[in-house]
Amino acid sequence: MNEFDVIIIGGGPAGMTAGIYASRAGAKVLMLEKAGVGGQVALTSSIANYPGFKHIDGFELSQSMWEQATELGVTTVFSQVDKLELDGETKKVVAGGVTYSAPAVILSMGACSRGLGVTGEKEFIGRGVSYCAVCDGAFYRGKTVAVVGGGNTALGDVLYLAPLVNKVILVHRREGFRAEQSVIDGVEKMKESQGNIEYKLDSVVDGIEGNGKVEKLNIHNVNTNETETLDVDGVFIAVGRSPNTELLDGIVELDGGNIVANDRMETNVAGVFAAGDVVKKSLRQIATAISDGAIAGTNAALYAKKLKG
Ligand code: NAP
Repeated sequence: MNEFDVIIIGGGPAGMTAGIYASRAGAKVLMLEKAGVGGQVALTSSIANYPGFKHIDGFELSQSMWEQATELGVTTVFSQVDKLELDGETKKVVAGGVTYSAPAVILSMGACSRGLGVTGEKEFIGRGVSYCAVCDGAFYRGKTVAVVGGGNTALGDVLYLAPLVNKVILVHRREGFRAEQSVIDGVEKMKESQGNIEYKLDSVVDGIEGNGKVEKLNIHNVNTNETETLDVDGVFIAVGRSPNTELLDGIVELDGGNIVANDRMETNVAGVFAAGDVVKKSLRQIATAISDGAIAGTNAALYAKKLKG
């Protein structure tokens, strides 16, 4: 009953696309997802670079991918993977106390938000410190918040929060932003029109303070060493993501925590494929995640078919 042709770990765009392709190639597919389908994309309010859609809501896109995968026969089980045995012809995946087996496994467990590691950060999670503007932004209506980071996520958070809150202070450790130019232009435009966005550039966070909830953000300027305390009700931390590969250490080849895969999305272990943000690559986008998923799903289904004879 728990035997499949392909087991996919992680239900983001990469995993769901792998499911769609593997199912269509005739494989019996299980997708294990620890929380909700869509991963990072489901928490993105507006996506403007997914071909075919000028703007699409991330949750809506995720749900639509999942419906498609489910209609094609992919079984989804919401359970956290605790153990992996990936050597040998039959791979075993233990999730929620249940052992599932398959000749082929696709690793597509994505990445999770990185922290700043400053004082007060852990203490105030859920009480002013957040890693998801789309999830928690509504709690800060009419209040002052800081967003930390200079990538697409941080600037996207500013665009999402500025119309909701009284003021957004963007704290970034250098002068230039890492985000795409179109996103930077969007923030600049909103800064002009809304008048409630402020930049604190060349600035790093020293600590977060408060009494039961966030009240102050301490920063300093890296050029002048001048310190400053900002009165804020919330701090949205968007300083990048780390791959969810803790379980894989010593099991598949990793480089800087990311899975090393070839152009067939094969890892160094036969029958084990990888897709999406967990893979070592230069561009992490939905478009590249689904590309990985399509390749991994097709090759995993082929591998399982060959092995079964
Ligand atoms: P990211 O692109 O890695 O950017 C992280 C930002 O945080 C950088 O500006 C970095 O500064 C800063 N940072 C890193 N560590 C820091 C620290 N300890 N203290 C202060 N600042 C720190 O991460 P992301 O924005 O989460 O994006 C992740 C990936 O998802 C990217 O490939 C991105 O393009 C993609 N993404 C795409 C979309 C979209 O297309 N709609 C939306 C969101 C994310 P430096 O620049 O100085 O290194």
